Amino acid sequence: MATVLERVSEFKNEALIDFKDPANKAKMEAALAAVRAGGSATYDLIINGRRVRGAGTFKTSNPAKPSESVGTVQKASPAQAREAVAAAEQAFYSWSKVPAAQRAALLFKAAELTRARRFEFDALLVLEVGKSWGEADGDVAEGIDFLEYYAREMLRLDGPHPVTPVPGEKNAMIYIPLGVGVIIPPWNFAFAIMAGMTSAAIVAGNAVVLKPSSDSPVIAYKFVELLEQAGMPPGVVNLVTGSGSEIGDLLVQHPRVRFISFTGSKEVGLHINQLAATPQAGQIWIKRVVAEMGGKDSIVVAADADLDAAVDGVAASAFGFQGQKCSACSRAIVEAPIYDEFVNRLKKRVATINTGDPADPSVTMGPVINEGSLKKIESYVAEGKKEGTLIAGGERASGEGYYMQPTVIADVKPDAKIAQEEIFGPVLAVIKAKDYDDALRIANNTEYGLTGSVYSQDRSKLERARDEFHVGNLYFNRKCTGAMVGAHPFGGFNMSGTDSKAGGPDYLLLFLQAKSVSEKVG
Ligand code: NAD
Repeated sequence: MATVLERVSEFKNEALIDFKDPANKAKMEAALAAVRAGGSATYDLIINGRRVRGAGTFKTSNPAKPSESVGTVQKASPAQAREAVAAAEQAFYSWSKVPAAQRAALLFKAAELTRARRFEFDALLVLEVGKSWGEADGDVAEGIDFLEYYAREMLRLDGPHPVTPVPGEKNAMIYIPLGVGVIIPPWNFAFAIMAGMTSAAIVAGNAVVLKPSSDSPVIAYKFVELLEQAGMPPGVVNLVTGSGSEIGDLLVQHPRVRFISFTGSKEVGLHINQLAATPQAGQIWIKRVVAEMGGKDSIVVAADADLDAAVDGVAASAFGFQGQKCSACSRAIVEAPIYDEFVNRLKKRVATINTGDPADPSVTMGPVINEGSLKKIESYVAEGKKEGTLIAGGERASGEGYYMQPTVIADVKPDAKIAQEEIFGPVLAVIKAKDYDDALRIANNTEYGLTGSVYSQDRSKLERARDEFHVGNLYFNRKCTGAMVGAHPFGGFNMSGTDSKAGGPDYLLLFLQAKSVSEKVG
């Protein structure tokens, strides 16, 4: 008889919505209106399936129009964060015994329900985090991909795995879940990363506390609700909203927590790693920390590159979603012979970027996430103006929202502050390299190692980069953003994280442990 895995179709990436189609445009406009109309709703904590009010509330607002509320959300108290861990622990005992095929079926069902609510989630991403329609749809499509991919991966990992046969013994190795996890996602892929981290943990048989970013809690609430509609038992995912620093430490340090799956900044990731390393009273394991952190990603433009393609790739990677991607290009490293021409063409290309409210489909660049982020970006630009030559932007853009102009600073030295620190906004440093050797040396000169790209038509240059450019996701003659589940397993080296690969065949193993069973026979 065919196994469940054999009966499941081959994984394929979800197609994107064509918003040029008038029917899709009308559906998106209706979804935006519906999400706006729901802006006065209040969202509770979800602990053991129950809706619970917190110790206070906070509002989540539209970064394009900060006066517009997207929802009112609970601030969980420390006691409620502990209750959420207890609920997850209780649920773990039964959920871990649910057959893998049934857990996978939950993810397949969740993918189907997400497809049915695609426009609603797209609209939420436009209004809660300021994504353009296309970026929002890419985020939701990636979330669906994670659900579909991890469900198949769990089916693949289920059951006994072959080991070396030994006469007189029946041996097997199986993967079992870890226990209670804390899931801490960022706001920048508010659907995909949040759904991917959560679904990977639970399909492996763990139960979790999901603490979403305070900038995108409504999307997380709607996803947990969707998992419930898909048949998830109470307590398998508990939603606890509130300030990361207030309840985050408590969750990370809790002795009954077995693992922490974090995606966010280097600073918070290192803090979590350090806290998790100290055993607490009653703790009987070493906590596992999966930390996917920041980037300072480079595109190398070799002297022989197709210059128009390189300019397009750099602009798309630097300014897509306002540069707020861990994979965003924040350094263009250009060989000297084509440097001036590259800068000229880039300046013209950046002038075509249209900044404004992303609810308008003609807008290509929206606001950054919040006032704190805008101020941080402005301070880097002020520093950058001293470290290089301002070529484009450099100011806040007009409008009520947190708008920053797409900013390019050229003639930046490889060790300048804006060439080294993650800015996480629409700011690109252009660096001149003496030659290709110098370009590769500069590309490797940060503490990060997440994504990178090389534009060159010379095969030997690309092959050198394959060996020497030390990043987790390397691309040739294309932009350095837009990794696809399955095709480009994603995650970086060095201070970019713990070398995990989301959307790849190794990822679920981070949420499992292997048990070897040997029986004497005959
Ligand atoms: P952040 O580090 O500020 O926050 C990430 C999450 O951690 C949020 O949910 C936040 O509430 C929580 N948090 C904050 N303090 C905490 C604490 N003391 N204990 C527990 N949780 C705490 O990052 P962000 O601004 O949400 O996201 C942007 C960052 O994420 C960038 O650095 C970006 O490069 C990185 N990122 C990395 C990847 C990757 O795959 N490597 C993907 C996306 C984003």
